[in-house]
Amino acid sequence: MAFDFDLFVVGAGSGGVRAARFAAGFGARVAVAESRYLGGTCVNVGCVPKKLLVYGAHYGEDFEQAGAFGWTAGEPRFDWPTLIANKNREIARLNGIYRNLLVNSGVTLLEGHARIRDPHTVEVDGKPCTAEHILVATGGWPKVPEIPGKEYAITSNEAFHLEALPRRVLVVGGGYIAVEFASIFNGMGAQTTQVYRGPLFLRGFDQGVREHLRDELVKKGIALRFNTDVARIDKRADGSLAATLKDGEVIETDCVFYATGRRPMLDGLGLENTAVKLNAHGFIAVDDEYRTDEPSILAIGDVIGRVALTPVALAEGMAVARRLFRPEEYRKVDYRLIPTAVFSLPNIGTVGLTTEQAREAGHEVKIFESRFRPMKLTLTDSQEKTLMKLVVDAATDRVLGVHMVGPEAGEIVQGLAVALKAGATKCVFDETIGIHPTAAEEFVTMRTPVAQ
Ligand SMILES: Cc1cc2nc3c(=O)[nH]c(=O)nc-3n(C[C@H](O)[C@H](O)[C@H](O)COP(=O)(O)OP(=O)(O)OC[C@H]3O[C@@H](n4cnc5c(N)ncnc54)[C@H](O)[C@@H]3O)c2cc1C
Repeated sequence: MAFDFDLFVVGAGSGGVRAARFAAGFGARVAVAESRYLGGTCVNVGCVPKKLLVYGAHYGEDFEQAGAFGWTAGEPRFDWPTLIANKNREIARLNGIYRNLLVNSGVTLLEGHARIRDPHTVEVDGKPCTAEHILVATGGWPKVPEIPGKEYAITSNEAFHLEALPRRVLVVGGGYIAVEFASIFNGMGAQTTQVYRGPLFLRGFDQGVREHLRDELVKKGIALRFNTDVARIDKRADGSLAATLKDGEVIETDCVFYATGRRPMLDGLGLENTAVKLNAHGFIAVDDEYRTDEPSILAIGDVIGRVALTPVALAEGMAVARRLFRPEEYRKVDYRLIPTAVFSLPNIGTVGLTTEQAREAGHEVKIFESRFRPMKLTLTDSQEKTLMKLVVDAATDRVLGVHMVGPEAGEIVQGLAVALKAGATKCVFDETIGIHPTAAEEFVTMRTPVAQ
């Protein structure tokens, strides 16, 4: 049977664009459908605008600290609409780049909502196309729990388009998006409270890192409320909001921001017309080559709920393109040692096992730790401290994990992730000469394990 396309990709986000471009580059006839925005979550309502807002938030501290270096300037004032307008302009530029990337690689771009009609047919706004393979790369969507007043809450989707910076913000959630937005709002001057139902945010990160970040956020003025949750949200006559917590406390605020998880984006996708199955968490079930239960349909990225990060979606997109159209170059995605950052202020950077994971996996560990005031802050009143930590296997000397809380932690840990992938031992770290004076050199000068 002759198909219109060799590959039809649903969703022009991180994973979909990568798969489409490379498949076309390998000579396949490729179409991609996008209903909302080119570049997907990352470019439009995720990594990119988030990082721009984090940069914006850091200026609050920079202005305060500049005086210690001899600078005087007028009273700093922050204008949210300027930042949002500039951010929107940059994102429009990136949307254009994504369009060109697709079109220049020979991909047919169909702008509209895609619905799978049968295992080889996709309709875009009602118009059918056939394809030998269909790749679902539709990403995720924020979830807000069913509580009275949930309609007054916003999520990251709306936060990027607020018309004004709220005076008071209540952030709900304990994952990295919640922590990052608490830092963004607080850094820009909003009175910020974060509520999380567990005992400490950032579950899955190293315990020492979580505690260190908690202490730093408190120093910066974020009010943290753990072991409780929002029970209801009410709107006052003056337009402000009152969030009643489960422990009875009422928090008066102007904005309730929810970051309590994301669901796969399957709305109107037509999976009921296929044999595609969902896993126990509601994400599309795939095997280790991203095949669903429907032989012609594959799925990658946030919609499969494995590791919801852009570089992982990119790697999965690449793997699919190679397996289908350049099998001699196919390599499985390696999910071990994925480095990540949390762009809170200060940042977290991490790769490898946490202390707890290393012990659970049966390693006897040596922990090396350094806590210090970053040099840039020594002339200022800031009491911010950096934490650096190495988790080392006592038996083999292999470095199992690298963790940092401090400025540019993501930038520093990316390089160390290469060392961990190469199997570096603590001895290799020790023999590496530092770059002086940097914070990063601490990673190669920690000599004495701490008792833990
Ligand atoms: C606030 C926030 C901050 C983040 N920060 C980071 C970060 O710092 N670093 C990082 O690595 N990751 C970050 N992420 C995660 C990252 O954005 C995602 O992991 C990544 O975008 C997943 O890519 P994807 O291709 O699976 O889906 P997406 O990028 O979400 O793309 C899916 C696309 O499919 C389209 N679509 C959906 N359904 C249809 C349909 N039926 N028809 C046509 N089109 C459809 C959507 O409109 C969307 O454009 C962040 C996410 C959020 C929400």
